[in-house]
Amino acid sequence: MTDQSLKLFDTTLRDGSQSENISFSVDDKIHIACKLDDFGIHYIEGGWPGSNPKDMVFFKKVKKESFKQARIVAFGSTKHARNPVEKDPNIKALLEAETPAVSIFGKAWIYHVEQALRVTRKQNLDMIRESVAYLKKHGREVIFDAEHFFDGYKDNAEYAVDCLKAAETAGADVLVLCDTNGGTLTSDVASIVKSIRETVQSPLGIHAHNDSELAVANSIAAVQNGVVHVQGTINGYGERCGNANLCSIIPNLQLKAGYRCIPDANMPKLTALSHYVSEISNLILNNTAPFTGKSAFAHKGGIHVNAVMRKPDSYEHIRPEQVGNKRRVLISDLAGKSNILFKSSELGLDLASDKERIPEIVKRLKELEHEGYEFEAAESSLELLIKRMKQEYPNFFSLQGFRILNEKDENNEIRSEYCGCIRKYYRSQLAGSYRQYFLLFNETTST
Ligand SMILES: [Zn+2]
Repeated sequence: MTDQSLKLFDTTLRDGSQSENISFSVDDKIHIACKLDDFGIHYIEGGWPGSNPKDMVFFKKVKKESFKQARIVAFGSTKHARNPVEKDPNIKALLEAETPAVSIFGKAWIYHVEQALRVTRKQNLDMIRESVAYLKKHGREVIFDAEHFFDGYKDNAEYAVDCLKAAETAGADVLVLCDTNGGTLTSDVASIVKSIRETVQSPLGIHAHNDSELAVANSIAAVQNGVVHVQGTINGYGERCGNANLCSIIPNLQLKAGYRCIPDANMPKLTALSHYVSEISNLILNNTAPFTGKSAFAHKGGIHVNAVMRKPDSYEHIRPEQVGNKRRVLISDLAGKSNILFKSSELGLDLASDKERIPEIVKRLKELEHEGYEFEAAESSLELLIKRMKQEYPNFFSLQGFRILNEKDENNEIRSEYCGCIRKYYRSQLAGSYRQYFLLFNETTST
């Protein structure tokens, strides 16, 4: 355990918006930025001002907001090889965004330098150095994203480190190691970060993609090996399979590994933040999302429920309230007495003093489930079932009888006449008890 502080860098508004089916308006971005600040995020990457007008409008508008601690970050690339840095349109747009911090990505993998940028290795190092130095000269905090760092390191470690050192000597404030393709295994992240920690002096960051479903694990491993700046998105939104999910990284690091990420008092806001961003994104949050999903603390099996009611940590890794979530008990044919007891008290029905009824209710529930009824998604039906079994539920409608007459005339017209009587119960506001009346009906239809 440690009480080391970490800096959180959220890129929901930039990398997250590159997720399929997400399209934020400028106002959406402002609302999310305010929530992220309120939660305690240190850096909010708002977009790429050089790539589209919407992001430029965001940077103009967001200046009117006052944030508690969050610094707004503009994102862009290093200068183009053929442009002098002061004339490079992308670098100019970064400065025009007038944010206190900028993050720029540069290539750290020879394969990309030679095949994508088509420049020499030395030219790439110059591009990194000149871009960082120029932005520093203009008073920006510079976060350098070493793109494809882990793949580059495995290909040619010396050159990947040279890229970091180029940014470091030019004054970059943080060197972020990116697993851009998301294919690196956690053990490799741990060992590579460890060796880089011994090689460069500047603070290190991690930016992991989730293509191997390891982005959260890789971010945590990076922190445990010396990284102090963690990038990610709310709910893990991002290109392809997404980015590292801050909604999992933050509670893991703070509640389990003892790192300080956000103020303790804000941790219960995590679930609301996760749902808020999913709503604005128009994406339904996965029920099984760890920590913040609806099913994250849902218990179905009778044995589990029985144990969890006595000792919550027997089947829960943290208390749901710590992250603002809540325990749920599901009702199905797997339910036991504890499920019914928990659910009945949640529904305001007193079964604690009527415990001998519970086995009957469980038995009836299982019979009905066997017949094809489903109570998991129908809590009100369960309420009615319990009330009926407790005999607290009058038959609101009971048929007293009916008669149907059918007749056919010479024109082949068929007429049906039906009449009958229904007894209806209602709760009298004055008397506070149930009263009954009879409903007579008489209808004729013809075809
Ligand atoms: Zn990314």
